[in-house]
Amino acid sequence: MTVVANAAVIAVGLVALMLLPPAGDDESGERRIPARAAPAPASEPDPPPPVIATVESARAVGANELGLVPVIMYHRLLKKRIASIDRTPAQLRAELVKLAKAGYVPVTAAEFVSGRIDIPAGAHPVVLTFDDGHPSHFALDADGRPKRDTAVGVIYEVAEKYPDFRPVATFWVNRAPFGLPDRAQQEAAVKWLVDHGFEVANHTYTHPDLRRLSTKGAAEQIVRQERLLKKLGAPPSTTMALPYGSRPRKAKIAREGKWDGTRYRFDGVFLAGAEPSVPPYAKSFDSTAIWRIQSNGKQGECRRWCSAYWLEWLNEHPKERYTSDGDPEHISIPKRLRGNIISKAAKKVIAY
Ligand SMILES: [Zn+2]
Repeated sequence: MTVVANAAVIAVGLVALMLLPPAGDDESGERRIPARAAPAPASEPDPPPPVIATVESARAVGANELGLVPVIMYHRLLKKRIASIDRTPAQLRAELVKLAKAGYVPVTAAEFVSGRIDIPAGAHPVVLTFDDGHPSHFALDADGRPKRDTAVGVIYEVAEKYPDFRPVATFWVNRAPFGLPDRAQQEAAVKWLVDHGFEVANHTYTHPDLRRLSTKGAAEQIVRQERLLKKLGAPPSTTMALPYGSRPRKAKIAREGKWDGTRYRFDGVFLAGAEPSVPPYAKSFDSTAIWRIQSNGKQGECRRWCSAYWLEWLNEHPKERYTSDGDPEHISIPKRLRGNIISKAAKKVIAY
């Protein structure tokens, strides 16, 4: 956006210069300053003008919109961890700060799978996902603000300190979202999250291993949850996460199907491990099995498959990582990757 804004400023400045009276009068160069765009008012800012990427602008930021994206998977946040997949609020905070400092900007899983990755030029998308709708993910305090040390509380805290860190995430929930006991509270929670740009989507009704169910049984699990989410005011899910990362025997039925007269169709179905994902316009993208990375240190199995390992790896391999061109309408890539893009997206490509 800065590039276009500056171009406009330069154009306006040139016109202003041409209209200026001849040199020698008391108009100093300082008088040109008002020709600059006025700073946006603090409240209700106008949306920034759209960025149009070019070969030069894409090259300048090293844009690679076929690069790898970390989709990080979180479960419970507990002050004292019980299971190895639990994280403490302090661990979440430290990881988000690390992401913010490395130039990552969160997008939701829905935005990611639909290719709506609208982040500044040079930034890297990250998808923060929280499974199972645990009370530690979302709760409001007495003043109606996200409680400290919940996932949303920590995300807001980090975004306040790092304003480029967009405070959004995806919550894949089951039949008792956020452990809330009654319908009214569940509705209020879903409304708050959706109103603030978070995604609340389908993780099945009772969290079964879909591999052990019939096609009909699996579809029932998905439809029951979709009906609950609708009652709670959530928009139709466009993503789902497989409980335990376990794929049904017919993988496609997690993405698309029907039960009791209700259809469902997701843009993407997410696994529970164990690598960064390619974006949806890559030929190798499989919308029925999208990789995620468990948030964890580098012990045991996580020596290589969890977030500490992968975030370090992505920092050390910047050419492999997704870097935005700042223009959501185009897909900017180094020429060497031209063969990796799906034909549907070829029209939008800027190769440099
Ligand atoms: Zn789960």
